Amino acid sequence: MSDSSSSESIENRNRGRSLFSNAEKFIINGNPNELDENIGTFARVLTEKDPKSYKNELYCSLCEISFDEVKRKGCAFCYNAVCEECSPFTCAHPNTKRPERICMNCYYTFMEENSYQRVTKELQLMFDKETQAKLEEAKKRKEAENRCEELEKLLKERTEEFDEVLKSKTSLESEISQLKKSLDKINDEMSRSKENISFIQKKFSDQETQISKLIEENNKLSDQIKKSQTGEENNQNSLEVEKLIKENNDLKEKIKFLQTSPKASTCGCIIS
Ligand SMILES: [Zn+2]
Ligand SMILES: [Zn+2]
Repeated sequence: MSDSSSSESIENRNRGRSLFSNAEKFIINGNPNELDENIGTFARVLTEKDPKSYKNELYCSLCEISFDEVKRKGCAFCYNAVCEECSPFTCAHPNTKRPERICMNCYYTFMEENSYQRVTKELQLMFDKETQAKLEEAKKRKEAENRCEELEKLLKERTEEFDEVLKSKTSLESEISQLKKSLDKINDEMSRSKENISFIQKKFSDQETQISKLIEENNKLSDQIKKSQTGEENNQNSLEVEKLIKENNDLKEKIKFLQTSPKASTCGCIIS
């Protein structure tokens, strides 16, 4: 083996190690072997090549090391020839249901798909949760809106009722004020009627006094007439007697008028 080929193989080995150290990073996130439930869902055969074709290859398909230097192995997923360093893991195989050798290229591919599926699943869950939360929020908002509408309706009804009551209160107040006015008018009329009545009563009493005076006067005159009719100066006094009789009759008329008129006047005044 020449020096140049030896230094080339060292470089290739370093490339393989760098791939390996990257693989370790992925292992932290989970080895596909551990994900039994994912067998057949993300690890699969990636080629239609003959599974035995790797046996004719001279170099590792990843680090290109010659199989003169290292053992030739075959990846069970891409059927490529790889060295042991470029295929440090095994992975559950969908056909054999057993752990099979996997090259780092296939390992990365499946890890990437696995991560993508996991992230997608988590995002979907998050999205569903968020959507559910939004739906519930919308439902709550709708309920609150409905409650608001109900309250607004109730408030409107109460306001209308209040307005009705206020209206009837105003109308009642106006009726009361009118009744008060009527009452004042009636009181005024009553006080005026009382004044009228007392005035009439006074007038009536005056008239009664006048009547008794006139009756007394009339009696005196009657006595005088009687005396004159029986006395000696009968003839001389006949003119005077006639005059007295006339006066007496006038007085009787006046008394009669006074006795009837106050009652009539009383009735008239009370009515007015
Ligand atoms: Zn290799
Ligand atoms: Zn492979």
